[in-house]
Amino acid sequence: KKLSNNSISVSKVRVIVRVRPFLAHEISARNSDPVSSCISVLDQDLESSQEEVAVYLKDPQTSRNECYQLDSFFGQECNNVGQIFSREVSPMIPGIFDGCNATVFAYGATGSGKTYTMQGTEEQPGLMSLAMWRILSICKSTGSTAKISYYEVYMDRCYDLLEVKAKEISVWDDKDGQIHLRGLSQVPINTMPEFQEVFSCGVQRRKVAHTGLNDVSSRSHGVLVISVSTPSADGTGTIVSGKLNLIDLAGNEDNRRTCNEGIRLQESAKINQSLFALSNVIYALNNNKQRVPYRESKLTRILQDSLGGTSRALMVACLNPGEYQESVHTVSLAARSR
Ligand code: ADP
Ligand code: MG
Repeated sequence: KKLSNNSISVSKVRVIVRVRPFLAHEISARNSDPVSSCISVLDQDLESSQEEVAVYLKDPQTSRNECYQLDSFFGQECNNVGQIFSREVSPMIPGIFDGCNATVFAYGATGSGKTYTMQGTEEQPGLMSLAMWRILSICKSTGSTAKISYYEVYMDRCYDLLEVKAKEISVWDDKDGQIHLRGLSQVPINTMPEFQEVFSCGVQRRKVAHTGLNDVSSRSHGVLVISVSTPSADGTGTIVSGKLNLIDLAGNEDNRRTCNEGIRLQESAKINQSLFALSNVIYALNNNKQRVPYRESKLTRILQDSLGGTSRALMVACLNPGEYQESVHTVSLAARSR
C-alpha cells in the first residue's frame, strides 16, 4: 500500500562528494614526489548544518582550477563510511517504514571507491550492510519484516543475482504505470549473518555472470533493494511497505580518453546514456520541472517509484584524489544534477 502523495514539495536529491585516500601502491609509485590531492573544499564546518559546500579541483600539472557547489563533502582525512551513513543515509531510513521509498547511488569513475563505499569489504562494512543492520534493528521494535532483492542492469538488461544462474528478468509497466520486475527474487532476512550469506552469493554471481567478458561488474549497475513491510498502527490489518535501493553505479568513463572500441564502446555508450538520463531525472526533480524524463533509460524507468514524489534520494560522487580530469568529469555531472 502506498501513502498518498499530497505534499507539494518534492524532497531534493542530495549530492555529496567522497574522496578516497591514496592507496599504498599509489604512494610508493610516486617515489619521492609528494602525493597531493587535486581535490579540496573551502571552509567546511561539518558540525554546523551548512547549506552547501564549494569543492575545488586543481590540476597539479597546469594549475587549472574548477569549483562546484555540492551538498556535503567527505574528504580523505575522515575516511569513515560510518560518518556518511549516520549523517546522510540513516535519516532516510525511518521514512521507509512509513511507506516512502529511498535511493542511494554511488557514482564515479572506475577505481574511485564506489564499491568500497556501497558494498565495503570484510573488515570495513559499506553503506549496504550498515543500512541492512539499521533496518533489521528497527524491524525488531516495530514488528516489521525485511526482504532483499539484488540485481544488475547491464546493457539495459536486468539480471536477478539471487537466482542460481543470474536469470534475465523482464521489466514491464502495468496499466497504472507501476513498474514491475517480473519474477525478481525476494529473500526474507532476519539477521545480519543471513544477509551476509545471501548477499555475498549475489556478489559472487555478479562477478561470474557474463562469461567471456572481463569484469562486467564495474560496467553494470548493481542494485540492492531492501523492502520492509509494517503492519499499520491503526489496527486495520493493512500493511505499509517501503523500500531502500542501494546502487553501485557503473563507472562513468570519458570515451575521449579511454579510446574504447567494439563491445567496450557499446557498453560505455549505454553506461553514459543511463548516467546522463539519471542526471537529467535528478535535475528535473530538483528544479521542479513538470516533466521528469524517467523513460530515457532502463535504470531510471525501474527507479521511477523511488525517485521523486515522497521518495528521498542521495547521490555519493566518489573521487580518486590523484585523477584531476576524471574528477572534473564526475563532479561536473553531479553538480549539474542538483
Ligand atoms: P570502484 O568500485 O569505484 O571501481 P573500488 O571501490 O573498487 O572502486 O575502489 C578501488 C580501490 O580503492 C580498491 O582497492 C579499494 O579497496 C580502494 N578504496 C576505495 N575506497 C577506499 C577508502 N575509502 N579507503 C581505503 N581504500 C579504498
Ligand atoms: Mg566497483
